[in-house]
Amino acid sequence: MHRIYCVGRNYAAHAIEMGHDPDREAPFFFQKNPDTLVADGGEFPYPDKSGDVHYELELVVALACGGKDIPQDRALDCVYGYAVGLDMTRRDLQGEAKKMGRPWEVGKAFDHSAPCSAIVPADVIGHPTSGRVWLEVNGELRQEGDLNQMIWKVPEIIAYLSGLFTLAAGDLVFSGTPAGVGATVRGDVLRGGVDGVGGIALTVI
Ligand code: MN
Repeated sequence: MHRIYCVGRNYAAHAIEMGHDPDREAPFFFQKNPDTLVADGGEFPYPDKSGDVHYELELVVALACGGKDIPQDRALDCVYGYAVGLDMTRRDLQGEAKKMGRPWEVGKAFDHSAPCSAIVPADVIGHPTSGRVWLEVNGELRQEGDLNQMIWKVPEIIAYLSGLFTLAAGDLVFSGTPAGVGATVRGDVLRGGVDGVGGIALTVI
């Protein structure tokens, strides 16, 4: 495991629900520290200093190799496999940061903020370009979309990101979340998945 990159606003319906224009502007990225990763779900400790912690269920891309300026048509050669992750977000702190023009780390890169399922090799499942992306809270459907709704597709994300950073084996890319994000509270059971890839379950404690 090397770095965790995250794509912002990669589904139009989610961009709209967050108050943004869904037009295809250049993708943007933020990072979570590698030690925020929590393998395989389990328990998610509700973080301090927030009263509005949101779930964002996402397809995660795991890289087997990297480099700089990777062309789109070779980008998938660098993908080891795929997983299902949750980009947990202190939305109140992120909102303040946005308003003040400050960095997002306090909202996005807190401890335990990147739960992620086991990685399934692309050798086994291929490179999914469609498939339901969903999340239930206590058995009720909250998030639903399809990989085919991603504004920036996986090869484009890798190509663009590799122009900004030197990508490497062990990098994970959280590829953005569909509409339906919302707040969670202690005791909630979050269960979600990407059809054709896998699933993840978390209890908020
Ligand atoms: Mn996200």
